[in-house]
Amino acid sequence: MGKRKKSSRKPTGPKRREPLESTFTCLFCHHDKSVTVRLDRKEGIAQLVCKVCDQRYQSKVNHLTEPIDIYSEWIDAADAAQREDSSIRRPVASSSRPLPPMPVGSDED
Ligand SMILES: [Zn+2]
Repeated sequence: MGKRKKSSRKPTGPKRREPLESTFTCLFCHHDKSVTVRLDRKEGIAQLVCKVCDQRYQSKVNHLTEPIDIYSEWIDAADAAQREDSSIRRPVASSSRPLPPMPVGSDED
């Protein structure tokens, strides 16, 4: 009887979530888990990078910052940048509101 090599590979159980590194879906290329957020608490810097489309974002972190915070910050920043971009393309409707007449205070004496 030959001994059969039993490959007792443990099923990959729930991985312990790395607190300092997380992956998210990219806003730009929409690849799942292509965005990596790395928190460097020592340096106080967070780095977000998409390995697919090479989008990058950097922000400051504090002891309470989580990768998801950086990710949502990035979304906000991207959103703001997009709005800025569209406002550049289309000239902003000139909001030239009439200035109220200056009250002429004749306070001479
Ligand atoms: Zn991307």
